[in-house]
Amino acid sequence: CGIVGYVGSQSALDVVLAGLKRLEYRGYDSAGVAVPADGGLAAAKKAGKLVNLEKELVGRPLPSGSTGIGHTRWATHGGPTDVNAHPHLDNAGRVAVVHNGIIENFAALRAELTERGHELASETDTEVVAHLLAEEYSSCDDLAESMRLVCRRLEGAFTLVAVHADAPDVVVGARRNSPLVVGVGKGEAFLASDVAAFIDHTRSAIELGQDQVVELRRDGVTVTTFDGRPAEVRSYHVDWDASA
Ligand code: GLU
Repeated sequence: CGIVGYVGSQSALDVVLAGLKRLEYRGYDSAGVAVPADGGLAAAKKAGKLVNLEKELVGRPLPSGSTGIGHTRWATHGGPTDVNAHPHLDNAGRVAVVHNGIIENFAALRAELTERGHELASETDTEVVAHLLAEEYSSCDDLAESMRLVCRRLEGAFTLVAVHADAPDVVVGARRNSPLVVGVGKGEAFLASDVAAFIDHTRSAIELGQDQVVELRRDGVTVTTFDGRPAEVRSYHVDWDASA
């Protein structure tokens, strides 16, 4: 339902949680965050309101990092439980993904992954993406390229945002028939399903086009098509008043 991603020099967790709060008006049933830090990947997710996630984070604080992703879920596949909440991780716990929309061919992908020895923990259509990204990353060492390869195999409408423990300065996003907006700041960048999530930080935005992948780093943003060709980007200034 709501997606936020951040890379910069602030506490990613603070930026992501504040962004998710800005998206609460959309409605949701669970929330979660993931932060690559200290060579690993830390995640927390809880059914219910953001306050449940915040309580969880007080009891079990995540290591601080300056890259992170977050999600508020509106369940379509699998009930609103802690396990089904996003982010979803691969079995090694190295990649985390959040998703809005529906992956129509998830059952076939799930069967294929299970056959290759993956163990899927949730009932969601989303989790297959984490496992597929982990497989692709292990052969190309490039999160944006992994995302492009995986997206070409997905059917349905989706916004996907992912991080990898081995690429702690990168956030990657993808979109097909589902909104995703990039916010470009000074030495930092944001990704969100709605500009409301980052309006407090920057008003310089890029609307991601259909079937595009974006790679966010502190010093810039790279947009390509799912085929890896450089994409035309449409930059604009967000001038509406978000304080209302
Ligand atoms: N289809 C996914 C799920 O049920 C994503 C739902 C959403 O858009 O929040 O987990």
